Amino acid sequence: MTTSDTKDEMISRIVAAYAGRPDVGPNEIVSLFNRLRHEMAGGAGAVEMPSSEPQTIAEAAIPLERAMTRDKVYCLCCGKGFKMLKRHIGAEHGLTEAEYRARFGLAADVPLVAPSYSSKKAKYAKETGFGKYARRPARKTAGILNKT
Ligand SMILES: [Zn+2]
Repeated sequence: MTTSDTKDEMISRIVAAYAGRPDVGPNEIVSLFNRLRHEMAGGAGAVEMPSSEPQTIAEAAIPLERAMTRDKVYCLCCGKGFKMLKRHIGAEHGLTEAEYRARFGLAADVPLVAPSYSSKKAKYAKETGFGKYARRPARKTAGILNKT
């Protein structure tokens, strides 16, 4: 029987479609995925597991409230601190940002970049980029605005 393949395909199709919606967060995707799997696998009414505890949320290496300092954000997989996590989780753990968030149940607005780093970067962008692209206001406009 190849029904399990079809089920998996169905699940991933449903989840993918659901994940494409802009109003859907990683937590919802994970719980939908779990629910689908659970229901499709369970089938014959063998639903006895407590559904209140989402099982795919992995145990974090360090408490979430300590996972972020001003200068570093800590990897919940291994507890190492970085200025930005995205590259690390990809290289070390083979996770995308979305997978990482889903794995630890992080909301989409939890930053994966240290606050000091992101503000430094913004400042840097301002200093380099803005100067290049910002044009002086055209003289005509300036004259009108100056009310003289
Ligand atoms: Zn790590």
